[in-house]
Amino acid sequence: MDPFGRKIDYLRISVTDRCNERCLYCMPEGYKGWESKPDHLTAAEIVRIARVAAGLGFRKFRLTGGEPLVRGDVPEIVRAMTAIHGVETIALSTNGMKLAALAQPLRDAGLRTVNVSLDAMNPAIYHRITGGDVTRVLAGIRAAVAAGFERVKLNCVLMRGVNEAELWPLVLFAAEHGLPLRLIELMPLTTTDVLTEKNFLPCGEVMRLLAQKDELIPQPDLQLGNGPAQYYLLKQTGALVGFIGALTNQHFCDNCNKMRLTADGKVRPCLGNHVEVDLRAALRHGADDGALKELLETALRLKPQEHQFRNQYQPCRPMTAIGG
Ligand code: SAM
Repeated sequence: MDPFGRKIDYLRISVTDRCNERCLYCMPEGYKGWESKPDHLTAAEIVRIARVAAGLGFRKFRLTGGEPLVRGDVPEIVRAMTAIHGVETIALSTNGMKLAALAQPLRDAGLRTVNVSLDAMNPAIYHRITGGDVTRVLAGIRAAVAAGFERVKLNCVLMRGVNEAELWPLVLFAAEHGLPLRLIELMPLTTTDVLTEKNFLPCGEVMRLLAQKDELIPQPDLQLGNGPAQYYLLKQTGALVGFIGALTNQHFCDNCNKMRLTADGKVRPCLGNHVEVDLRAALRHGADDGALKELLETALRLKPQEHQFRNQYQPCRPMTAIGG
């Protein structure tokens, strides 16, 4: 439990700050702040921290990045984590670019669910936002469905003037394939031009836009995974759409259940707060499991009641270096 009575049992582990895309909202243009490879936690270090966290009561784990699949040993990390007593579920967030080849090995290693970022269906708009190739992502999504994951969800970051016109095509794609689509408000997680008031598209406005095409039926009791999305069923299309209103939902943090581990081994109790606790230094100076547990407990005690995104928050690390 954290100081505010929230049960924190979900750890998002970033396995790398590197990425094979360049999303407008995630890293500054020309970003050069990469960690050097030896600064990244090794697979053995990641698995050890997961074991200590599981001993403390963490049950749900997500591997993320950067782009986790640029790292070659993710299936081995998953396999080793599934063997840890107390680990109930391991999920992955990916941009999908390398998923076509890796979906089945990841599923075979024990990965249960996958979230794939998909900000647009139109190849040119997708490329403008991410620098990537949407046809590869769509192939990755199809491979994930074929590999039999328990759930494949789609994540789309909302940007006014950038991908509003893509929302309906995304809804139709999600409905056609029976995949939940989550629409995420832009968070101030890096310093780029796109992170302005002008580009901010609130969930409430998107609900009204979608309501012009279909009826939104609230699903207040639906919990898909461990995230903060509020789900609606679109009556005609059958699409399930989740809204992640980190900025406009004043109760967003009330049910927060997570902490993050960065690729360079810092525990971040909150995405929108600069507090970090250094596990890597301890690990590499011979700390035993008890000492690591204490550091995780320290991070838990430092978890703030809510994020600072509404208070002129200045990101010190871009999202790619934290882990989404
Ligand atoms: N590369 C992987 C992916 O694309 O899912 C994992 C890391 S990415 C940082 C995780 C999620 O964070 C993605 O869905 C991405 O769109 C989202 N994200 C990144 N920067 C964001 C921002 N400034 N505001 C809202 N969501 C953001």
